[in-house]
Amino acid sequence: MSEIRIDAINTIIIDLPLRREQQFSVLGTRNQSIVIVFIRSADGAVGIGEGTPPCGPWWSGESVESIKVQIDTYLAPLLVGQDAFALDELMHRMQRTVYGNHFAKAAIEMALLDLIGKVLQQPVYNLLGGKVRDSLPLSWPLATGDPDLEIAEAEDKLDQRLHRIFKLKMGALPVAEDVARACKVARALDGRASVRVDPNAMWDESTAMRAIARMQDAGIELIEQPLSRWDYDGTSRLTQRFHSEIMLDEGLCTMQDMLRIAACHAGGTVSLKIMKSGGIRATRAIADVAVASGISLYMGTFLESSYGTAANMQLCATFRDLPFGGELAGPLLLAEDICQQPAEYREFELWLSDGVGMAAAIDEDKLNAFRRDRNYSVHVVA
Ligand code: MG
Repeated sequence: MSEIRIDAINTIIIDLPLRREQQFSVLGTRNQSIVIVFIRSADGAVGIGEGTPPCGPWWSGESVESIKVQIDTYLAPLLVGQDAFALDELMHRMQRTVYGNHFAKAAIEMALLDLIGKVLQQPVYNLLGGKVRDSLPLSWPLATGDPDLEIAEAEDKLDQRLHRIFKLKMGALPVAEDVARACKVARALDGRASVRVDPNAMWDESTAMRAIARMQDAGIELIEQPLSRWDYDGTSRLTQRFHSEIMLDEGLCTMQDMLRIAACHAGGTVSLKIMKSGGIRATRAIADVAVASGISLYMGTFLESSYGTAANMQLCATFRDLPFGGELAGPLLLAEDICQQPAEYREFELWLSDGVGMAAAIDEDKLNAFRRDRNYSVHVVA
């Protein structure tokens, strides 16, 4: 097999119900909307990709609607008739023709890698240098805003041996109230769990200085993206000042961001997400620069389905050190999912599954049940 000719690219939007309303810093949602990309080869193999923006365009400017339009109208025509093995050339064509739109490009690259893996009968991690781990210690998001409810929820997760890492989403409450809430949760779980917070870039530097001083005293282990995504100098000052770990998320999307972060040591850890960096291979390259700069890796999420989560695990399997673990909890938050086998969560970790490509078989009936549009008849050949 020296060529995999791309014959057709199709996309659908699905709306999967969540188990509970998920609160992001500025928006709440009861559905996770996802774009599914199908890339069919001339030989009839189908690679699948997933584009998952977190609840509309507030995070990156992309939404499921915009992802679908970019792929259907501008990106897919660049790829049809080309060889799927030529990943560098295909990514270059997309880069040259469409600025930004990393989620759309990541969804396509995910489908291409899945297709190559299926044709070669190999898991995708073997296309990335091979696996060095089988599981990921997993954080659980606490987002009700009520510390007593959140403590009870955390106790329940500890009892079930599902999670001993908890991340409080912040930003919906006034800062003083949010900080008091986080400190209360951290003190209640002290010595039994790691408590972290994510204000999603909502603070200015002086607010962050006061808030982090209090949260550090309460034992909060990690602060994610306290400042605006462009404020690397301010984040560097926070990183030097506090021993609570400072992690960048919104501030790290591109390789250029990573080089800047490394140059001024803005944060001791970076949250990696396939979507925001435009694909698995771009994320792998960013991770290599982080490690070479003495910056730790963390496996972030946009609440992907069990399919996108499996794709994240293929990349995650290639990371030797993840001192703060990760948060690939999307399937646990979804009331319905799209894979034949659920993601495997046990003993505080998410486990890599066996199989070729992304090692996650799609359930066509479920895809059809939750799709928003009817423009393409879903039929996936295994
Ligand atoms: Mg974040």
